[in-house]
Amino acid sequence: MLTIDGSQGEGGGQILRTALALSMCLGKAFQIHNIRATRAKPGLQPQHLAAVKAAACIARAEVKGAELGSQTLSFIPHEVEGGEYRFAIGTAGSTTLLFQTLLPALMRARHSSRVILEGGTHNPMAPPFEFLNQAFLPLINRMGPAVKARLIRPGYVPAGGGELNITIQPASRLRPLNILQRGKLIETRAEVLLSHLPEHIAERELGVIGKALQLPASCLSSQLDSLAIGPGNCVSVIIKAEGITEVFTALGKRGLPAEQVANQVVQDVRDYLANEIPVGHYLADQILLPLALAGSGAYVTGPPSLHTTTNMAVIEQFTQKPFTLEHLTPTTCRVELA
Ligand code: ATP
Repeated sequence: MLTIDGSQGEGGGQILRTALALSMCLGKAFQIHNIRATRAKPGLQPQHLAAVKAAACIARAEVKGAELGSQTLSFIPHEVEGGEYRFAIGTAGSTTLLFQTLLPALMRARHSSRVILEGGTHNPMAPPFEFLNQAFLPLINRMGPAVKARLIRPGYVPAGGGELNITIQPASRLRPLNILQRGKLIETRAEVLLSHLPEHIAERELGVIGKALQLPASCLSSQLDSLAIGPGNCVSVIIKAEGITEVFTALGKRGLPAEQVANQVVQDVRDYLANEIPVGHYLADQILLPLALAGSGAYVTGPPSLHTTTNMAVIEQFTQKPFTLEHLTPTTCRVELA
């Protein structure tokens, strides 16, 4: 049984999620200790526990330590079964992170799946739905599987109550991903999602972004949602280029003026465009696992985050196949799995 140190590197929930995903895909049992040991609330929090239980369900796994606050866990997977699943986190914990735990196994299962997830869909420090749907999933679909996600109802912190519906047609073999150039820009769009908040917030956010990024009105849109159970706001800028689509987001926060929310995204977009890289900060740590499952691939990104280097180390423990990270310039690097 593999032993994983949950406090290594970044030391957060991603170490556990990556271990669960690879354990299911490779049929390798593992035990993990020091789960989120350095966090203010260490151990399994509701969203991590939901990931463990959902993974145990789809892989018919034998699990010990699946309790709130637990800092140790053992997980022995059996065969992954595609099918119809519904998992509720029970809090506003991120459904997109839960989904990313299950997807690697379900996209290689023998049968297709339909998965309904309930919880948060627009959480701080997690991929918002727009990022998942327009940046992450197109790369997965490029590798062979056909994955479609629908936002049925947004869920924000603290109320939660969001819902994602996802269908997954697996692929028996994954094509390697090679994302070395951004290529020419095709389109830049801004989208604002607004739930139970005054419409002028969306207008002000789009006003700031339209002006700063010189976007015509036809590239600015807002969705006024009334289905969420609590208020919330997400601003997204979608940059479609020949080689990749990247998505930058910011979440509205009580007391934070709409202009500042919009400016956060503008800054991220400017930084991305100024650096000649295709793969942005967040995609860089999230596509390592699909790359590992394909067996090879490469991408160019900015300086690696601690999430990226930690995820590499955890993946390498499972696959015994090292990534190489080559600094091309002070602001760009190439990640490769040969
Ligand atoms: P913690 O243990 O710190 O509570 P966690 O389980 O909430 O951790 P992390 O381990 O920090 O989660 O992983 C967060 C993941 O969310 C990373 O893969 C990161 O790339 C992704 N992420 C964070 N913010 C964004 C964003 N704005 N857009 C896309 N992805 C994001």
